[in-house]
Amino acid sequence: APAIEFDDVHFGYGADSVLHGVSFAAPRGGRTAIVGPSGAGKSTMLALIERFYDPTAGAVRFGGVDVRRLDRVELRSQIGYVEQDAPVLAGTLRQNLLLATPDATDEQCIRVLHEVNLGEVLNRSPEGLDAAVGEDGVMLSGGERQRLAIARALLAAPPVLLLDESTSSLDGMNEQMLREAIDAVAENRTLIVIAHRLSTVVDSDQIVVVDHGRVVGVGTHSELVAST
Ligand code: ADP
Ligand code: ADP
Repeated sequence: APAIEFDDVHFGYGADSVLHGVSFAAPRGGRTAIVGPSGAGKSTMLALIERFYDPTAGAVRFGGVDVRRLDRVELRSQIGYVEQDAPVLAGTLRQNLLLATPDATDEQCIRVLHEVNLGEVLNRSPEGLDAAVGEDGVMLSGGERQRLAIARALLAAPPVLLLDESTSSLDGMNEQMLREAIDAVAENRTLIVIAHRLSTVVDSDQIVVVDHGRVVGVGTHSELVAST
């Protein structure tokens, strides 16, 4: 079974319908991108995967099982979620990493920092993982903050990672670094990335284009570019 499957999913927050029959399958171990204009329903799709809401019709399946049959805590333990503009909290680098996984070791913290190409921040202060981040300590660019949030999610070693990068307005350099980090974390994981632009997700196995709550295109980057 695919890692995640939407089968004719309908959903609305109230009277207004937001998703109108969304279907797609995210292959296990593959990289799926969801692209579309603001308000299309992309974030809502991620929220349905984790059962913040349930569809009004149709089904979302996780490993072939309707998520309504799965325990929310168990389901979410399988999924890492990185929200857009994930906050960096006042505190040390280590405290920022350990938010969801307080038992992770320093070795594990250092490994995930390297995984997202942030190993270098450890050298910005003699205190390493004990360095404060922000105003009085190690300064992080917007792109570095996003990669720190990805590193945080990786500590829980989730087999499925959902990344919401829809509002990221990174400069060329930071966007390139983010793409490289996503490449690195795509290994051995199922990845679903919400992106702003097709250009950010060139390397996806599959791109699902949504507009007004409908899937209006599915394919690889070259297939989609050829069809427009
Ligand atoms: P996207 O991620 O593509 O920008 P969203 O899934 O965030 O789109 O939003 C889809 C639609 O649902 C929008 O019209 C948005 O205003 C609405 N919406 C999103 N979240 C909520 C919510 N919690 N309550 C009510 N409406 C919402
Ligand atoms: P609202 O827009 O009313 O805050 P949302 O449903 O959009 O409601 O989101 C509620 C909170 O849950 C937000 O902080 C959002 O970042 C977070 N959230 C949304 N989708 C997910 C998800 N798939 N996994 C984890 N958190 C999520």
